[in-house]
Amino acid sequence: MLPPQANRTQPLPIRRTGLDRQTPFGFSCMRCLQCCQSKKIQVNPYEIARLAGNLGITTTYFIERYTTGNGSCLKFDDENRCVFLGPQGCRVHADRPLVCRLYPLGRHRNEQGDEWFSEIEPETGCRGECDGGEGKVENWLENQEVRRYLVAADSYLKLLWEMMALLEQGEEEVEGAEESDTAGIEEKSMMENGGWMDMDAAVRIFCQQREFPFPLDIEEKMRMHQDALQCWIQQP
Ligand code: SF4
Ligand code: SF4
Repeated sequence: MLPPQANRTQPLPIRRTGLDRQTPFGFSCMRCLQCCQSKKIQVNPYEIARLAGNLGITTTYFIERYTTGNGSCLKFDDENRCVFLGPQGCRVHADRPLVCRLYPLGRHRNEQGDEWFSEIEPETGCRGECDGGEGKVENWLENQEVRRYLVAADSYLKLLWEMMALLEQGEEEVEGAEESDTAGIEEKSMMENGGWMDMDAAVRIFCQQREFPFPLDIEEKMRMHQDALQCWIQQP
């Protein structure tokens, strides 16, 4: 299966697949910006939080202004260009999503924990060149500084699978909640309908309920967000 980060409307043209971290791979990007157009860039809550932090806004506002599908994908303009593509390139380069970092590789995971990579056919007009040096996939990952992104992607993917299983089992009715359980109602309605993607909103409720200070560090905020999601998944 394709990972959510690499999802797009048309199937990705694959040059080769089944690559692992030791597979020889090298690529020189010429920053021509072709690959920031005509795509579907799917994002997870960590990537949204990084991008929102880059812009100095909340994840709530980021989702409303810069995404489609309840926060699942970055917006593209009428000319099919990523909303963050400027004349000089990516305006959020330091916090760009994982799929942008990996390109022209795509990463795959399955529920058994297997990992493999595919090399995508470059965009029409891509000026990048595959180099035949001694590099490997793992070198590409290091150079693109994806370690935290991979940890986040794997942990959110696992939670997503759990939430999908939960939804398949059926959902509790909000009407049955006690009148005094207004925080629970707020949490439930926020988590449903894609609201779980909004890290700031979910963590704010989580902290209010437990009288925790709201975390400023993004990694800490992600851990708390995942705790909040786990509590929601496990509630009776
Ligand atoms: S986030 Fe940046 S790198 Fe990714 S598609 Fe948009 S402009 Fe390109
Ligand atoms: S289209 Fe190719 S050369 Fe141009 S920015 Fe993307 S990867 Fe780099």
